[in-house]
Formats: sequence, C-alpha cells, structure tokens
Amino acid sequence: MPVSRTLYTADWVLPIATAPIRDGAVLVDAGRIAYVGAASAVTYEPGSVRTVALGHAALLPGLVNAHSHLELTALRGFLEGLDFRDWLRTLTLIRRDLMTDAVLLDASRAGIREALRNGITCLADTTDSAAPLAAMREYGMRGIGYVEVFGPDPRQCAEAIAQLRTRVHEARAHDTSRVRVGVSPHAPYTVSSALFRATAELARADALPIAVHIAESPGELLFVRDGAGPFADRLRARGIDVAPQARSPIALLDDAGVLAARPLLIHVIQADDHDFARIADAGASIVHCPISNAKLGHGIAPLDRMLAHGIATGLGTDSVASNDRMDLLSEARQATLLQSLRLGVPDALTAHAALALATRGGAEALGLSARIGTLEVGKDADLAAFPLDHADAQPLFDPAVALVHVLAGKVGAVLVTVEGEELVRQGTIVPGDETVSLRLRAWRDRLQQWREASTA
Ligand SMILES: [Zn+2]
Repeated sequence: MPVSRTLYTADWVLPIATAPIRDGAVLVDAGRIAYVGAASAVTYEPGSVRTVALGHAALLPGLVNAHSHLELTALRGFLEGLDFRDWLRTLTLIRRDLMTDAVLLDASRAGIREALRNGITCLADTTDSAAPLAAMREYGMRGIGYVEVFGPDPRQCAEAIAQLRTRVHEARAHDTSRVRVGVSPHAPYTVSSALFRATAELARADALPIAVHIAESPGELLFVRDGAGPFADRLRARGIDVAPQARSPIALLDDAGVLAARPLLIHVIQADDHDFARIADAGASIVHCPISNAKLGHGIAPLDRMLAHGIATGLGTDSVASNDRMDLLSEARQATLLQSLRLGVPDALTAHAALALATRGGAEALGLSARIGTLEVGKDADLAAFPLDHADAQPLFDPAVALVHVLAGKVGAVLVTVEGEELVRQGTIVPGDETVSLRLRAWRDRLQQWREASTA
C-alpha cells in the first residue's frame, strides 16, 4: 500500500495562524494537514510516513497571489515607460493582432512556472481567454480565473453580457476542486454602469466570484466623479455619452449593485474612509498591488485604512507587463517599505503582517480561508518552503524578517505543494514542460516586428 502521509520538517515552520515554530514539522495526510508543531512532539507509527527533512528552511502556507494576468507574461518588458492610456491601448492592439491561442497558453504556463518558483500556490487571475484556466489545471495549481468583460457603450450591454454568459458557462464545465471560473467587469472607463449591473446580477445568480479593477488612477477618479479627463475625452471621441456618475469609483460600484456581489476589488488607491466603510459593510475584499501601482505612477494605496476597517486584504503582483516579476515576497517587501514612506514611521507594516497578507489575507480576500492561507490541522496542504541558509542572510534572527526583507527576490522555493501534491521538489518544478521559456524567447522577435511595422 503506498504511503499517503508525508512529514515535512524544517528549522522554522511559520503557521501564520500562530507564532513561528523553531524545529517544526507539518504532517500531511491524504492532501490535508494532520499536524503542525514541534518536530520532537509528532507521533506516528514507524514506516507509515514518508519524511522530508527540509533542513535550513522556512516552511509556510503557500503564497496567494490575489491579482495576476497570466496571459500578459508574454509582454514582459514590452510596454516599458508608456503612460497608462498608451499602455492599455498597445496592450489591446497586441491582444487583437498577435496573441494566438498557442501564445496565450504558453504565456500562462510561463507565468505559472514563475509563480511556482516563487512559492505561489494560488492565483486570482483576470483573463480575456480560457488559457490561464487550462494552464492552471495542467499544472495542478489552485486558482480562480475571472473572465473579463468590456463595453463602455451602454448600447453594447446586452450583447456583451450574452457573450460573457456563454464563455463562462463553457469554462465552468471544466471547474475542479482547485480551479474555478469567475467574472470580471474590467474597469469604469471600459464598462458602462449598465454592464456593471448586468455582470453583478450574473455573478449573484450563478454564484460566480467577481473581481474588478477599481480606484486605480487619478484619471479614473476624474472620469467617474466629473465626467472629465483623458478617459472621458477618448470615449466622447468614440461617440459615447459621458457624464459625472458618482462621488467616487467605489460609490459607482455600490450604485450599480457590484459591491452587493462581494467583489474582489483590485488596487483601491483613490478611496477615502467613506469608501472603505462601504466596502466593509458590503463584505467585499481588496487586493493591494504595491509594485504595479508604483511602477505605473498611480500612488500608494491606503493599506492601513483598509486594514483598520477590517476588510479582507491580500497582495497581488498584477501582470508582469506592469511589474516585471511575479514574486509575492518582493511584493510583501514593497508593501512594508511604501507604507512606512506613506505614513512616515518605521515598520508601519511589519514583515510578519506583510507575510500574513501574502498568505491568510489573500485566502480571505478570495473566500478560500476555510481551506488555505494558514497551517492548521484540517486545511488543505498548500505549502511553500524557502531556504534560509543563503550566505547573504546571516546572521538570521527572525525568519519572517529574513524572508520579506533579506531573501525576497534572492531565493526560490525549494518545495511547493497543493493539496499535498508536490509541484516543486528540491527546487525543481515537477509538472509541465520547461521549453516554454524557449518559445517565449522566440516570440520576442514577433513582438519586435509588430512594433517596427506599427511605427513605420
Ligand atoms: Zn490588473
């Protein structure tokens, strides 16, 4: 009879739900966590358990990347330096002109490989195609794929929602215990309030997860509140009526019935305490993407206010087209640094708190905290382990500080499991095909030719 139980031991176990454990152990039985505690206190019958000694490592819950765009892994570095509207416009043209199903699938696979190398076990991915969902299933990753819908002209609403319904129902037939489909009305400047309302109704009627990019830029606030600015100009040029809609982007979502569908709100930079109170009352959640927000010049989100209002908040990388990396420990580090800068005090967000956002916070934001996010008996065994013996990390006092401030971006995961299935073993990705990176290297030439042709 095959042994279905595995005991992982490590110098440090970080359950997140409780304090770090020195010389700790986690016992996994049939994909679930059966023990968390001191290695010396675990009991089992000899021969009934496979043991994996991780040694000088920190073992923690798998990291939850609560906002990604796997498809855009193919555009890493290509949109460098563009302002947000040109960034969006170029992205839309390339998707339309160049990104075949094969490219979308390889981009998604490459994104998942990067996620696994960085200890990420769960992705909340917003997507224009079904490729990320297929790639997540192929790799055994956990995640939600929110299918995007666009349509700033209210006259497009009925057609857009009919197409979305068809796409979601097709994708939903492939839902598994790990991978689910959801919906994402993109953002206020690409979605009419009628389409927001219709998408929220679909999400509520069919119990679908829903995510929306919201309150990201000053330009979006200007568009929603005053019916003015570059987004308004662009829509008017397309013959679409634009008027002031609400006091803030969050108020717009509330008015359109989206908050009542308890969405995952992506970014939420341009928001005040009134907005956060509405988010908290609705039981909606937030994903904070500090590096993408910084890189696009959108500002530092008021993370302290989100947390003060008790809103379930996770961390996300956003796409590598606006971040360049999918590395959640680096995101945690940036979150701490930017909050200290914003509030003018040291350690405004501690390394321990940042690590909790990257694990438990993300799980709560996605409604998955009964299954993942902490190391607790009975939860699914979604684990990540990182080495602590790096020469640049000595002397080492606190494993959480070391992971967030010293080792982020420097080390990859040595172990990643989802429901006890080892997806990274001894630092090597187990499933899939590593030639995907070679195909993305070749794809670079097609992007370059497209750029030359479009600027000729
Ligand atoms: Zn995004």
